[in-house]
Amino acid sequence: MVGDGGRCLRKLNSAITACEKCPRLAEYIRQVAQTRRRAYRDWEYWGKPVPNFGDPDAKIVIVGLAPAAHGGNRTGRIFTGDESGNWLFRALYEVGLTNQPESVHRDDGLEVRNALITAVCHCAPPANKPTREELQNCQHWMKATLRCVDEWKVIVALGRIAFEWTLRALKEIGVEHSVKGSAFAHGAEFALNDGRWILCSYHPSQQNTFTGKLTREMLRAVFERAVQLGR
Ligand code: SF4
Repeated sequence: MVGDGGRCLRKLNSAITACEKCPRLAEYIRQVAQTRRRAYRDWEYWGKPVPNFGDPDAKIVIVGLAPAAHGGNRTGRIFTGDESGNWLFRALYEVGLTNQPESVHRDDGLEVRNALITAVCHCAPPANKPTREELQNCQHWMKATLRCVDEWKVIVALGRIAFEWTLRALKEIGVEHSVKGSAFAHGAEFALNDGRWILCSYHPSQQNTFTGKLTREMLRAVFERAVQLGR
């Protein structure tokens, strides 16, 4: 599935959606979809792995950790329907990467330009914590995504785990670098050997945004830099 933009991504997304490689996660997302949260009891939850979302010709790839149980796992679109997504899409809108600041459901008209959003784990994990083995399983999709969206120039990793597993995937697809996962810091940026870039941001989880560890300005600044590098 190398190259060829939209077709490659559609095929890949459909394969991701059908994946059941991690039994614990497959069971969990189905169970969440059945029981639902009271506030969303009228929703028909997605309850499957959540595919990539965005522009197949993107120069910027944004990597999150995993869909939220009642966010992406409910709506079927990554970072859609939860507070992390509200923060992320507002920042993307402010730097011109989306046509609107909200991301509420799959048919809300949101368009992402020049960016693709993915995750190192495509299934919502219990307590937002995928196991090492689950992250390892999902590397297959990370590598396929980076091969599909092969015009990318800059990756933005949201959080340390996304950073570490993206660094691994890059090496495995032949993008050499000497960046260590331990170098993660908000706002840090690293050149890869082929001239492309990886940037770090704290994840816009409530744990970071409620406590002020990550502010809207800090998040926007990372994407402003990504837009500069992704021209
Ligand atoms: S986490 Fe990834 S590898 Fe595991 S079942 Fe979900 S999509 Fe498949």
